[in-house]
Amino acid sequence: MTNSIGMCRREVLDGFMRDRAHKLGAKLINGTVHGLNIPTNNTDPYTLHYADHSGGNLEGTAKTLQVDLVIGADGANSRIAKAIDAGDYNYAIAFQERISLPEDKMAYYEDLAEMYVGNDVSTDFYAWVFPKYDHVAVGTGTMKVHKADIKKLQAGIRARAAKRLEGGKIIKVEAHPIPEHPRPRRVVGRVALVGDAAGTVTKIFGRRHLLCGQVCPHVCRSDRGIFAQWRSDSHRSRPQGLPEALGSTVRRNLSGSGFVAARLLSIGRD
Ligand SMILES: Cc1cc2nc3c(=O)[nH]c(=O)nc-3n(C[C@H](O)[C@H](O)[C@H](O)COP(=O)(O)OP(=O)(O)OC[C@H]3O[C@@H](n4cnc5c(N)ncnc54)[C@H](O)[C@@H]3O)c2cc1C
Repeated sequence: MTNSIGMCRREVLDGFMRDRAHKLGAKLINGTVHGLNIPTNNTDPYTLHYADHSGGNLEGTAKTLQVDLVIGADGANSRIAKAIDAGDYNYAIAFQERISLPEDKMAYYEDLAEMYVGNDVSTDFYAWVFPKYDHVAVGTGTMKVHKADIKKLQAGIRARAAKRLEGGKIIKVEAHPIPEHPRPRRVVGRVALVGDAAGTVTKIFGRRHLLCGQVCPHVCRSDRGIFAQWRSDSHRSRPQGLPEALGSTVRRNLSGSGFVAARLLSIGRD
């Protein structure tokens, strides 16, 4: 079985999707939505209030647009979700630095994604070095209650991966909530939420696949002690528990899946 992890660069994909929609007849408006008026019946249009940036300035020109349907794909801080009173979700906070590496260092990540566990890099999530074609994304996550620790945890992953990141230059810094579960209401009338606005990322994120694929060997490699301890406890039967040091979120995503556990064990034997 070949394992692979798709790495997406939204800065490329979003433009591609936008251009394709345009070619297929969509009218593109470069704008920021500020509000949505909801009709009192199911036939009248919705009114979107937005700042039109087509003139090139950040502030934009205030405009309105009447529409029959609304798909809110406006991310974790969705205005559309607020407008339909979609309710809240618990979230993890993710922090990541995009780092451009010298060619020889980048070659190491050509077909490799790394995942790191341990209290120095994340107490309840995990940290990563993911290749993004011509640079790497180095980051970590932690649940909302610990979000004040995020910079300390980022320093932890930078320290762990320091040798492999030598000579790297930070080209972008990103920090964002990652929803942990869907919002209570995702479709109200003719308005639907998708993606982070809906809070569906954790279910489709592929964490289980991510964890049982190429990433696992590197969990093993970077934390042999933890892995060996887990394997020796559980190699004769389906593992009942995973080491505390893996962090609660990682353990939750790994437990309950015999396939993942088996795969992790077999990788460990290689
Ligand atoms: C550091 C970090 C690492 C991550 N790593 C992974 C990973 O390894 N694997 C994975 O599957 N997921 C990962 N995620 C989660 C993933 O990035 C999100 O689930 C995904 O980007 C959600 O896509 P989206 O289109 O729903 O929302 P977003 O990507 O947030 O896109 C929302 C879009 O809406 C626009 N927008 C927002 N508000 C308005 C407004 N008022 N008017 C007009 N436009 C607006 C924004 O400009 C943006 O273009 C990570 C997230 C972070 C922050």
